[in-house]
Amino acid sequence: MKIVVAEDNPVYQTLLKGLLKEWGYDVLIARDGNEAWSMLSESGGPRLAILDWMMPAMEGIEICRRVRAEVSDRYIYLLLLTARAGGEDLVAGIEAGADDYVTKPFKVPELRARLRAGLRILALQDELIMAREALREQAQRDGLTHLWNRNTILQILEQELSRASRNGSSVAVLMVDLDHFKQVNDTHGHAAGDAVLREAAIRMASGVRRHDFIGRYGGEEFLIVLPDAKAQGALVQAERLRESIAGEAFHVDELFLSVTASFGVAWCDSPHLAETETLLRQADAALYRAKHKGRNRVESSVSNEPVSAP
Ligand code: GH3
Ligand code: MG
Ligand code: MG
Ligand code: MG
Repeated sequence: MKIVVAEDNPVYQTLLKGLLKEWGYDVLIARDGNEAWSMLSESGGPRLAILDWMMPAMEGIEICRRVRAEVSDRYIYLLLLTARAGGEDLVAGIEAGADDYVTKPFKVPELRARLRAGLRILALQDELIMAREALREQAQRDGLTHLWNRNTILQILEQELSRASRNGSSVAVLMVDLDHFKQVNDTHGHAAGDAVLREAAIRMASGVRRHDFIGRYGGEEFLIVLPDAKAQGALVQAERLRESIAGEAFHVDELFLSVTASFGVAWCDSPHLAETETLLRQADAALYRAKHKGRNRVESSVSNEPVSAP
């Protein structure tokens, strides 16, 4: 763990450096307040600091204030080191943002224990952040397929459309619906239907480019957002995904099920950027045509000609 030690007194510098190294810290010595501030204000910088109160350029208490006001990318645990043992000073230090303090001359075991307490706080904070991130991720995913859920894929589409309008690039969407899926449920049961949905999701997710987005739009409907895809690229992609589903039977329990899906493709090229709703409506209309023309096929928003037929 990196630790900034801001201390202008060379004797204390040497003493602290030796102790902290021995305890396994990666020590960065700052000889005055300005040096300490530039180390701590750097993004992704250290998360632990021992700050002498009285220093040239900027006092420890001022560093505490600035860290709390200006460093937002991480929590820095701040320990003030001070010869000022008076109660009011300590209150001022804590109010300024220090987490703890040690009075000079300090007792070595006490400093060590207080730093350990700081590490525990930082570890707890890491756990909280990870839990929060996991919850956020969970709230954006579909429970069955682990693809983006409906809300999230729609948000992604909006984001990609506004990004495209800024950059003058294009966006395509694929609306996918499994064919006669009700029959899978009716014939083999709901659990088999779920397994088919998961397998279809896996096949499509592994068939798109790294920067494409795929979400579960409804029961057996998927929405795929292809940033930077032009018409031809989107059609080729849709055809490839169609083949990835229809091309090989789905192995569910002891069964080999033949599954197909229909695809509606729509796109918008800059500068004529479509609204989200328009694009979705076009993709939906194309999907409807694909169903109407016999399923297991790709139809696009502009052409009435079949783009592909099995
Ligand atoms: P089409 O080719 O016209 O799309 O026919 P379809 O049978 O696929 O379409 P329909 O909309 O009639 O049926 C969709 C079925 O998908 C009905 C519903 O029970 C099933 N379904 C929706 N969500 C789930 C799910 O999470 N799990 C399972 N097993 N089935 C689901
Ligand atoms: Mg000093
Ligand atoms: Mg269907
Ligand atoms: Mg459907």
